[in-house]
Amino acid sequence: MSDYRPPLRDIRFVLENIVDLEGLSSYPGFEHVEAEDVYDALDEAGRFLAEVVAPTNPIGDSQGITRNEDGSVIVPDEMVAAYKQFVEAGWAAIKGDMEYGGHGFPGVMATAIQEMLTASNMAFSLCPMLTTSAVEAFQNHGSEELKATYLEKLISGEWSGTMALTEPEAGSDVGALRAKAWPEDDGTWRVQGTKIFITWGEHEMADNIIHFVLARAPEAPPGIKGISLFLVPKYLVNADGSLGDRNDVECIGVEHKLGIHASPTCVMAYGEQHGAVAYLVGEVNAGMRCMFTMMNDARLHVGLEGLGLSVRAYQQALDYAKERRQGRAIGSPKDQSSPIIDHPDVRRMLMTMKANIEAMRALILDTSVASDRSERGADDETRLAGTNRAALLTPIAKAWATDLGVELTSLGVQVHGGMGFIEETGAAQHWRDARIAPIYEGTNGIQAMDLVMRKISLANGKVVADYLDEMDATAAELMSSENGLRSMGESLREAVSGLRETTNWLLDSSNPNDGLAGATPYLRQFGVVAGGYYLGRSALIAHNLLEGNGDDPWLRAKIDTSRFYADQILPQAAGSAPAVMVGVDQLFAIDGDLLAQ
Ligand SMILES: Cc1cc2nc3c(=O)[nH]c(=O)nc-3n(C[C@H](O)[C@H](O)[C@H](O)COP(=O)(O)OP(=O)(O)OC[C@H]3O[C@@H](n4cnc5c(N)ncnc54)[C@H](O)[C@@H]3O)c2cc1C
Repeated sequence: MSDYRPPLRDIRFVLENIVDLEGLSSYPGFEHVEAEDVYDALDEAGRFLAEVVAPTNPIGDSQGITRNEDGSVIVPDEMVAAYKQFVEAGWAAIKGDMEYGGHGFPGVMATAIQEMLTASNMAFSLCPMLTTSAVEAFQNHGSEELKATYLEKLISGEWSGTMALTEPEAGSDVGALRAKAWPEDDGTWRVQGTKIFITWGEHEMADNIIHFVLARAPEAPPGIKGISLFLVPKYLVNADGSLGDRNDVECIGVEHKLGIHASPTCVMAYGEQHGAVAYLVGEVNAGMRCMFTMMNDARLHVGLEGLGLSVRAYQQALDYAKERRQGRAIGSPKDQSSPIIDHPDVRRMLMTMKANIEAMRALILDTSVASDRSERGADDETRLAGTNRAALLTPIAKAWATDLGVELTSLGVQVHGGMGFIEETGAAQHWRDARIAPIYEGTNGIQAMDLVMRKISLANGKVVADYLDEMDATAAELMSSENGLRSMGESLREAVSGLRETTNWLLDSSNPNDGLAGATPYLRQFGVVAGGYYLGRSALIAHNLLEGNGDDPWLRAKIDTSRFYADQILPQAAGSAPAVMVGVDQLFAIDGDLLAQ
């Protein structure tokens, strides 16, 4: 089991060069943000997470959680202690509104910290992650009165938040949910219903749990148009802010899972006795709008899970590959076996992990900064451009990165050979933990449908067209540069041209079922090409920095990693294209009954 080493140099490279962190300080509300302060804080966060949170990861996996007869849920002591320190050090409040005790830093900084938190202990990270996403919705849609009571403690992390949508008959189809809500004379509401799979639905790590529950008000229209959002506290809060009576909210079961053993996945009964006291957030029947604010944030952070776990798996595989000796690499001394890192096939696995990790990180931080622009941009045009860019990239960041998370953590197991299959090395935990990320927060199939049916047609296709043009401009820049970057430009140009073709085919298609059939390969193609774009830009920047500052092995490695991606990963995008455009009929060519044979 190796220690976690926060990838601070690469995070800083992306923030400085791809995201233009310094430029953010010109946005209203970010005037206090000094880039150097952000980098210092990230160094500090990385140190804290590696020292305090990362060691709890194997403990959480092996011990898991327990539910007592009284419905309480116990998580390992080491994680409770780490959470207290996390909150006291202020790491939960990075992005929160300063009016409510937050630090008011850009979301992209919180995203960078969340990557390191997830890599340190994914099960643990879900608690602050869901709280932050709940805060996002609540800040935007909650009444001033509710915010005065709940927001500060949610931002600080003293109280945690949940997101309670799923019911047995309402998974991907949220509109099918049945939990009901009714108003009381005193202006409060009551909620009644059972929700399943509620992450961190019950625990004692925080003093109170604030559930954000979707339910139907009386006479609500069917489907998603009839859903409202309610705040349901575990403990009611007295007028002076102290904790009052226990609300009618109970954890009636916990799931036993493939991974994230230390994250309680709860069956929650709301209001089984007499209705749980609840407060309406936003308007009646406008719950999905509020929830989307929460889900967009959460989707990006789930994408980060693919990234964070890949990093942890990569570091572990790299350490193992340097130590483990087997066979003799060609050209090595005759009388001794070689470390497996000297074998080309092991190098291929490690380079595949490294290159995809760097590509994912750039995409995710770029998506996050687009969200910052959407909230804080100086004018309407900038804000709208940020909103549209974030809307386009979020499903890709979520689904491409989490599919890669499963693939790369699996490669991490493979590098270990047989020992990867043995739990004590810890390699398998990353793979088991990674497997949930393509499923929750909208399955990756649902993300692909979102991309094809809603996102590429944004502003009549202009949003995606602008992004494709940016990619083409980078390809042209690479092609006109010297020192071996030209071939990278050619690969990128070809890949972008293929993506333009499938995008136009989807936009022009008259049968929506064809688009749905091609959605998943299209999202994959998009992710692979976007990765090539960010690494192409990275190579150009590294090349320019090297010219100005003499030799720097880290920058040379950045160029070599980008070249590996352009030569060995980017061409895979073309392989997805036929499946995008083949149409739906092939998928249904075999009659349902014959599928069994
Ligand atoms: C560990 C864990 C934690 C979770 N945490 C939370 C939480 O905190 N809060 C919460 O509310 N929920 C949570 N969930 C629920 C999670 O979001 C759902 O499991 C997920 O949305 C999928 O729903 P489902 O399980 O009902 O699958 P289904 O909707 O039954 O999907 C099954 C398959 O069918 C596909 N499918 C479904 N509908 C369509 C369609 N229209 N077109 C094409 N394909 C389709 C899906 O992509 C999937 O492959 C959690 C789940 C787990 C396992």
